[in-house]
Amino acid sequence: MSTEPTTSKRQARTLNVGPRIGREKTTVRIMIVKYCKGHGHLGAGHTKAKVEEQGVCVECGELLAYAWKRLEHCRFGENKTTCGRCPVHCYKPDRRSEIKTVMRYAGPRMIWSHPLTTLRHMLDGLTSRPS
Ligand code: SF4
Ligand SMILES: [Zn+2]
Repeated sequence: MSTEPTTSKRQARTLNVGPRIGREKTTVRIMIVKYCKGHGHLGAGHTKAKVEEQGVCVECGELLAYAWKRLEHCRFGENKTTCGRCPVHCYKPDRRSEIKTVMRYAGPRMIWSHPLTTLRHMLDGLTSRPS
């Protein structure tokens, strides 16, 4: 019997941790926080519980965790374009619909509250070439 270690067909991929992914994570967090607050999810009398560390309700926190996980496993890594311009789009249909709703709401508002982040995000979308 061989003593060689067996290789799994599905080898564990290392998570994306580069600056490009970091910027995307920041952008999506800002957008989801803006959406959550703008819709009063944490307001008085609202039943949604708060995810303390991110300052969002549980549902928005789940969407944020999902979006971050997709980024950490993004097949394009540091060469990715913005998710909105992605030729693949790896989100499940319901999550994709949710993030689109968030982006439609938060995108225009971010121009005023986070102009530099917005500009950088736009440049990332224009200059990146997924490969
Ligand atoms: S949508 Fe595209 S760019 Fe965004 S994480 Fe998924 S594969 Fe990567
Ligand atoms: Zn919320």
